[in-house]
Amino acid sequence: MARTCVLIPGDGIGPEVCDAVVRVLDTADTGIEWDRQLAGVAAIEAGATEVLPAATCDAIRRHRVALKGPCTTPIGEGFSSVNVALRKELQLYAAVCPVRNLPGVATRFEGVDLVIVRENTEGLYSGIENVITEGVVTSLKVATERACRRIARFALDYAKSRGRRRVTAFHKANIMKMSDGLFLACAREVFAGSEIGYDERIIDAGCMKLVQDPSAFDVILCENLYGDVLSDLCAGLVGGLGVTPGANIGEQSAVFEAVHGSAPDIAGRDLANPLALLMSAVMMLNHLAETERDAHHRDAATRIRGAYDAALRAGTKTRDIGGSLGTRAFADAIIERL
Ligand code: NAD
Repeated sequence: MARTCVLIPGDGIGPEVCDAVVRVLDTADTGIEWDRQLAGVAAIEAGATEVLPAATCDAIRRHRVALKGPCTTPIGEGFSSVNVALRKELQLYAAVCPVRNLPGVATRFEGVDLVIVRENTEGLYSGIENVITEGVVTSLKVATERACRRIARFALDYAKSRGRRRVTAFHKANIMKMSDGLFLACAREVFAGSEIGYDERIIDAGCMKLVQDPSAFDVILCENLYGDVLSDLCAGLVGGLGVTPGANIGEQSAVFEAVHGSAPDIAGRDLANPLALLMSAVMMLNHLAETERDAHHRDAATRIRGAYDAALRAGTKTRDIGGSLGTRAFADAIIERL
């Protein structure tokens, strides 16, 4: 049965990895049809006046699910992040980033299987910055009880539904006693008496522990900025940004995208690993299976995962993880195994 989802190719390596993923999903007979929409630089280049056109948000509201390529954000100047704007506009309050070892991708660590659950709508990403006087600027970190409680509940429900056993909150409440203090107070309240284990780590010591023994962690709960940094750090533990998927989940809609950015250093050269976006697409199919009780999507997700695991095991992989294939050839290798 056909199901329409929004596709936002983004810019940089976005269009190439999206093409590869769409080819794989078509071959797997997922029945997904795409409503293509623009965001960021690609939207401006196509003549839009806004980096996040209303038509793009409307399409996501309508179809409730989107697969998104990365969007460039200028550093230190220019327009503000279209990614942050999208998450706030659609209240995609929970970012979920599963990090696990993959077959055929050798790294320093074995047995890594953790999930980062990140608050996605506030913290220092509220974009409230002021010039106080010449040479003095401030950036406001926002924490609301509503959002802190909501993300803690999400982490608890996620842990329960996935058979996870422990949630660790990363924080800096020794210094930010009010904002991170509120984050912790809400988490403690939500986890009190639950069957899921709960503990806390000050983020600096937690990062040291993560790079010493990442297999010691199960689910990590954190606010926005910490989650952004931790996602890339943890990607590095299992093979890098080419193999780390992600999802932004809200009450009404969900946007699936890799952790990586637009990678301008390799864009347009058939070098990008499409696996992180493909794994995000598999998360999307599983989300559709869960929320719409459609076994067909679960089955397609399982077959795609089997195909990329088999390709990796056979050593057919892209350069970022020690192989020699380009974006298109790696997609072909997965397609052959479907
Ligand atoms: P990046 O993730 O784009 O790249 C970091 C490094 O990882 C680069 O060396 C790149 O070549 C490599 N890399 C990333 N994805 C890869 C892949 N799929 N295959 C192989 N190698 C890969 O981070 P950056 O360079 O810091 O950011 C570039 C731009 O992307 C910035 O404008 C940033 O704001 C934006 N960004 C967007 C998102 C998003 O759209 N969600 C996320 C992160 C960064």
